Amino acid sequence: MEAELKNLLSDLHALEDSLRDPTHHSLIDKMRSRVERLSVMENSRVVQRVKIKDMSAEVVDSNPYSRLMALQRMGIVDNYERIREFSVAIVGIGGVGSVAAEMLTRCGIGRLLLYDYDKVELANMNRLFFRPEQAGMTKTDAAVQTLSDINPDVVLESYTLNITTVQGFETFMSSLNNKSFRPDKEGSGVDLVLSCVDNYEARMVVNQACNELSQTWMESGVSENAVSGHIQLLVPGETACFACAPPLVVASGVDERTLKREGVCAASLPTTMGVVAGLLVQNTLKYLLKFGNVTPYLGYNALKDFFPTMEMKPNPQCSNAACLEKQKEYALAKPARDAAARAKMEVEISLEPECLHEDNDWNISVVDDSDVQVSSTSSGALPEGLVFELPSADEFQKPSVSEETTNTVDDLEDLRRQLEALNAD
Ligand SMILES: [Zn+2]
Repeated sequence: MEAELKNLLSDLHALEDSLRDPTHHSLIDKMRSRVERLSVMENSRVVQRVKIKDMSAEVVDSNPYSRLMALQRMGIVDNYERIREFSVAIVGIGGVGSVAAEMLTRCGIGRLLLYDYDKVELANMNRLFFRPEQAGMTKTDAAVQTLSDINPDVVLESYTLNITTVQGFETFMSSLNNKSFRPDKEGSGVDLVLSCVDNYEARMVVNQACNELSQTWMESGVSENAVSGHIQLLVPGETACFACAPPLVVASGVDERTLKREGVCAASLPTTMGVVAGLLVQNTLKYLLKFGNVTPYLGYNALKDFFPTMEMKPNPQCSNAACLEKQKEYALAKPARDAAARAKMEVEISLEPECLHEDNDWNISVVDDSDVQVSSTSSGALPEGLVFELPSADEFQKPSVSEETTNTVDDLEDLRRQLEALNAD
């Protein structure tokens, strides 16, 4: 390009010399200044990052992976480079999904599958990721444009479709099943599905697809008043699916009557969405690279900076047939799972140094607390700060003992006493 522009300049110079009529010179000057401007623009263009074959831990300014590979040196992750083997599907490339996609791209994830049917609008500019000049582009195409510039090593697949339509659902399922990226992978073609959609119907569709495929997924959400959010891990058969229990939300302390009115535009904050995307990708990294604990349910209340957590067991009366099927499979595999856990524990015990103080004067004994459960849906108890977003469909409507009745009884009792007191006089 640079050489072409130089040639164009010398051609213009030759043309100027050959022209006898000086009135044409001003036009030539104008063309020359245009070519010069193009030369400047070409020189200032950002150099595109080249693809990198192997992740290196070498600490040099030009290595985009040095800080990530340092996680290995710090003893957090055993093998960071494994991240290149993983495929993550992100459904919904909005305020949470787009930021999650950028984080995973910067972390050097192997492959990202992006699903959305919407276009970028200027009304999205209060959130992170998309830029004003991308308004009008589909969110998936705009995301691929930005992400491929940030990290060309990531394999990006863009699906501009609505998963809640019949055709969309079919394409969604077949793309999740496609194993061309890693043919030897067991199960589906992806390692994790992240749901970053903003409505109940789309969540139920992701739930259906993941139950059918036995696909582990994570759900995320931000409240309509923009001040609370949550993430949840869903393992078909092992944890509650999205249809097992009414969805949970973090009680935000905002008057419900001010929310969800017809025609009222939902609020959104880049801060809350950034926090939820950060929590979601943090747990994705922990799940994929096997470090730390993956939280089953983590809420976020921005008004109080409160983060409630809990676990949810699957509901044996779940309305989703695929969920019941996976629950059965999980129960059948229990003996094998227990045996494997026992064998693992025996190996760990045999590797431990022998205990020097088997008897002690204080009769202190250690009790196994591995069976203690934080809470479950069957008990109906929720940790402080969490509420169900929707009422349970088959909830028994108890006739409430109204305060009014109690008050009436109290009042009558009072009246009787007053009358007795009057009669006594
Ligand atoms: Zn279920």
